[in-house]
Amino acid sequence: MTRPVYLDGDGAAVQIGDAALDVLLAHRQIADDAPELGGVLLGRYIIGTKDIVIDSTTVPMHGDIGSRFGFHRSAEPHQKALDFAWHQSGGTTHYLGEWHTHAEPDPTPSAVDLDDWARRLREGWGTSGDTPLLFVIVGQERTRMWRGDRATLAIVELKERGRMTHGKIGYEAYGEAAGWKTFDGRPMPTWEQLQATETGRETCRRWEVAAAAIRVAP
Ligand SMILES: [Zn+2]
Repeated sequence: MTRPVYLDGDGAAVQIGDAALDVLLAHRQIADDAPELGGVLLGRYIIGTKDIVIDSTTVPMHGDIGSRFGFHRSAEPHQKALDFAWHQSGGTTHYLGEWHTHAEPDPTPSAVDLDDWARRLREGWGTSGDTPLLFVIVGQERTRMWRGDRATLAIVELKERGRMTHGKIGYEAYGEAAGWKTFDGRPMPTWEQLQATETGRETCRRWEVAAAAIRVAP
C-alpha cells in the first residue's frame, strides 16, 4: 500500500487515496503533444481534526479546453459530477479544490494558476466556513499540492511526506510512542536518515518484513 501524505505547518495532513492518485497519475503529460488536463478534487474533512482525505477526482470532460501549457475546466459537467457524488455519499463527499497537469517534471504554478486559485478563494468555492481549498498540479514526475486559506487568501505549499510503506508506518509509530529514543535512551534516527546508509537500509528492510508478518497474521 502506498499513501502519499501532504503536511502543512499546523500538523494537518492531506492524504490522496490510492484510487484518486491512480487517476491523477494516469493523466500525466508524458507524450510530447499531450495537453494539460484537469478536474476537481472530491473527498472528506476528518471530523475532530484538520485532516482531509481526497477520495476521488473528476476526470477530463466535454467542454474542457487544454493546450500544452494551459487548461480551462468547463463548469457544468464537473459540477454535475460533484453534485452526484455529494448525493451518493449522503452529503459527506465535498468539493475540496482543483487539479490540473503540467508538462514539466517538477511542476510550479504559473501566474495564471495563482490568479485562478486566488479567485476561487475570494469567490468562496466549495463548502463555507474556514476549510481550506486544495490545489494539485500533476507534473511528469512529481505531484505537488498547495493549500489556500479563505480568510487570508494565502497560498502555501504542503510538504510531501513521501509514500508510506507499512514498514515506515510501523517505524514512525514506534518512534512516536518511544519519544524518538532507543531502548537505552539514545536518539532514534528518522526513516530518511536510515535510508542514507547500508546498515540503515537493512534496518528498514527488517521493519518491512515485520510489518508484512503483522499484516498476514490472523
Ligand atoms: Zn498550471
